[in-house]
Amino acid sequence: MNNKKIIWFNRFKKPNNWILDRDENLPFPFLNLIFDNITHISANKDELKCIYCLSDVNYTEINKYCYKGSVFCPICSRNTIVPIINIPEPTLETLKNWHLLAFGMFAHRPNSISDDESEYEIE
Ligand SMILES: [Zn+2]
Repeated sequence: MNNKKIIWFNRFKKPNNWILDRDENLPFPFLNLIFDNITHISANKDELKCIYCLSDVNYTEINKYCYKGSVFCPICSRNTIVPIINIPEPTLETLKNWHLLAFGMFAHRPNSISDDESEYEIE
């Protein structure tokens, strides 16, 4: 990867539980899926989705977007890729709910960065 920009998911921020009427102390349901996940992603490479941009992710791109064991989305540069097999049904609705918990209602813009995110350049 050549000076690729990546954006680590901030695992310490509070989920937007109020949007979905969840208990305010509930954690993100997907944290164990998005960190240190290269092995798991490789084993489920046929169907991958990104929680941030909601895109289908093509595995052939992925080996260029791995850093410290975590996989980053080729489209939005975030480590928010999960195998569809790990998303509880109804899959698309759950994925959208995870997006809301993590990024709120108006975050769905591929190149925007929110206040609680950090961008890094890596070699
Ligand atoms: Zn993405």
